[in-house]
Amino acid sequence: MASQRCPKCNRIDATAKVSAIVKSGTKYSTSYDTKEDASYRENGIEWSFNLDSVTTTTQTILARQLNFPDKAGVAMACGWTFFILLSLSDALFSWIRADSVRTGNSTSTADLEVIIGVLTVGTVIAMMVALFTTPIHIAGRARAHLLWEQLYYCFRDDIVYSPYDPAKTGPPSRMRQIIGY
Ligand SMILES: [Zn+2]
Repeated sequence: MASQRCPKCNRIDATAKVSAIVKSGTKYSTSYDTKEDASYRENGIEWSFNLDSVTTTTQTILARQLNFPDKAGVAMACGWTFFILLSLSDALFSWIRADSVRTGNSTSTADLEVIIGVLTVGTVIAMMVALFTTPIHIAGRARAHLLWEQLYYCFRDDIVYSPYDPAKTGPPSRMRQIIGY
C-alpha cells in the first residue's frame, strides 16, 4: 500500500484528495432576477416583465488551482459546434437556392449564392479549428486524468503529491507539469 503521507511534513493530518477538494469547492447556484419595464402607449401604460435566470459557478481559489486543467477544450467545443451549425445552415440555404432556381428568381438566386459562399468558408474554418484542436485536447488526457485522481494535497505545505510516485510532487501552480498535460 502506497503511503498517503505528505512527502514534506511526513504526516497525514492536513492532507486530502485533490479530487475531493475540487468537488467540495465547486458550487453551482441559480438565481432569478425580475425586471419591470414600463412603456407608454397612446391608450395607456403597458407593463412588460422580463425574467432572467442567472447561473453562477463559484469555486474556491484552491479548488480552481487544483482543478484538472483544460487543454484546447473550449476551442475544440466551439469548433465542432460552429461546424455543425454552419454546415446545417449551408444545407438549408442550398435547398432554398434550388427552389429559387426552379422558380426562375435570378435576383434572390444571386443573393443566396453569396450567403452560401460565406457559410461554406465559415464551415471550412470551423472544421479546421475542430480538427486542429481535437488531437491536442485528447493527447495524454486519459492518462493525465488517472494521475490527477491519485493526487493528494497537503494544506500545511501547500503541495500536491502522488502516493505512488515521489517524483510527482509540487505546488498547485505546477499541476500541468505534475500530471503531464
Ligand atoms: Zn505536509
